[in-house]
Amino acid sequence: MKIQADLHIHSTLSPCASLEMSPAAIVRRAAELALDLIAVTDHNSMENGFTAAALGEKAGIKVLYGMEAQTREDVHVLCYFEDRLQAERFNRHIYALLPDTPNHPDYFGDQVVVDEEDNIVRHEEKLLLNALDISVPELVDLARRHDGLVVPAHVEAPPYGLLVNLGMVPAELEGSPLEVACDTARERVLRDFPALAGHPLLRNSDAHFLKDIGRARTVFSAPSPALPLLLAAAKAGTFHVVCPESHG
Ligand SMILES: [Zn+2]
Ligand SMILES: [Zn+2]
Repeated sequence: MKIQADLHIHSTLSPCASLEMSPAAIVRRAAELALDLIAVTDHNSMENGFTAAALGEKAGIKVLYGMEAQTREDVHVLCYFEDRLQAERFNRHIYALLPDTPNHPDYFGDQVVVDEEDNIVRHEEKLLLNALDISVPELVDLARRHDGLVVPAHVEAPPYGLLVNLGMVPAELEGSPLEVACDTARERVLRDFPALAGHPLLRNSDAHFLKDIGRARTVFSAPSPALPLLLAAAKAGTFHVVCPESHG
């Protein structure tokens, strides 16, 4: 089957995302776009993602438990999980690694946890858009120990791309799927970073507004949207990407 996926979407919990991005609104928009698979990937937290997953189940859209973690090296890494308990454990680990810096909503934006009906549950007080006390290799190991899949985000894009900050793909991620920012042409990425030719290069929207959901996506050919099958499809090259200006 063809699986239309957008695996990088921010919700109201990310200080940089619009307050229209409630889990319910995200799932509704994904349904309108006939997406089969999404992930709500807020900075260093999965809390709204759990709500999105519950809503996705009712709407017939699979929602992976996801997060965009920020490592000590200021690298953004998407982490995906299928098992709720493992995802919860990982989420707790990450929260403990987040500095105690308070959020200043007037400066950084609101960090709002909402329920399935868009009611505000609470405001997250720690600033989520911050570096965790964990390195890229340690994060890869932690996620894998929780049966997670890691995909470094927008690897070529400053300021948080893996290649911008490390200049290379660490050995732990050899052959792993990597995300390329949706506006960058594939030819340019491969010219600037020839080592990426050995990696499946996925695309997602990195949406902070409803209108951007699905703007870029990855279409997997896989028997089902199970995480190991998606990884296998990525590694086998049985996927294609859709970008705003057909950057492929
Ligand atoms: Zn990012
Ligand atoms: Zn992002």
